[in-house]
Amino acid sequence: MDYIKQIRILKILPCIADAEKIRFHAQLDRDISEILPYLNAILDSGIYNHYGKTLTIKKEGRIITIYSYDIQGAKIDDEEDAVRILEWLKEKINYCYKNKDKIQPNYQRRQSLNPLDIYRLLPGLNCKQCGETTCFSFAIKLSAEETNIMHCGPILSSQYQKRRKILFQLLKSSGYTVPSVFVE
Ligand code: SF4
Repeated sequence: MDYIKQIRILKILPCIADAEKIRFHAQLDRDISEILPYLNAILDSGIYNHYGKTLTIKKEGRIITIYSYDIQGAKIDDEEDAVRILEWLKEKINYCYKNKDKIQPNYQRRQSLNPLDIYRLLPGLNCKQCGETTCFSFAIKLSAEETNIMHCGPILSSQYQKRRKILFQLLKSSGYTVPSVFVE
């Protein structure tokens, strides 16, 4: 028997952050507070608040916040995408419940990194290779997980090996995705 049987979409609205996307509000068929620390343990890049009972995750650019009874999604492609995301989440929630004894719950609240801390470790060339006009704009997007460190070509060169090592360790220890091959 599944822990969660249904996640019902209550509202579909235009996305405030991106005019071409939608956002949604969905309702769970039970209180999942007890499962949130387990979800926080198995999902990457979650920002978890144990006392507020919220877990915010990013999935391929989409922003999803999970509460005890509700789920809010933003930057969602369309209604079909919303249904797909909710089905994926339902599977994860049911998986956590079923495997509670094997998963170490994570009660840690992860904070986003300060863009300045990232900026100080970037090459500072403002070369635009990453698609941003300045290193600082790139740092802002990276701290919000709207881009990937791998888009900065210069940081991968041997010239910046020392900075790269510190930056990648900082990103990794803060829960950001860093390709393991570059974590020296
Ligand atoms: S590619 Fe790297 S060095 Fe160039 S602007 Fe972007 S962040 Fe700065």
